[in-house]
Amino acid sequence: MSEKELSVMKLYRLESGRVERIKKICPKCGRFMADHKDRYTCGYCSYTEFKENKDQKILDGIGIKI
Ligand SMILES: [Zn+2]
Repeated sequence: MSEKELSVMKLYRLESGRVERIKKICPKCGRFMADHKDRYTCGYCSYTEFKENKDQKILDGIGIKI
C-alpha cells in the first residue's frame, strides 16, 4: 500500500462501496466537530479548524470522487 493510500485511509473509509469521511474530533474537548464546506467547528468549545485543500488533492491523485 502506498503512502498516499494510507493518508486517505486516515480520513476516509470505504463502506459498502461508498466513501465515507471519518468524523473529525475536536482536539480541545474530544467531541465530534461539525463538518462545513471550508472548516470544521466544535459546537461545544467553538474550536475552529480551517480545511486545506490537500485532502481533495490526495483523493484526486488516486481517482476517488466524493
Ligand atoms: Zn471542542
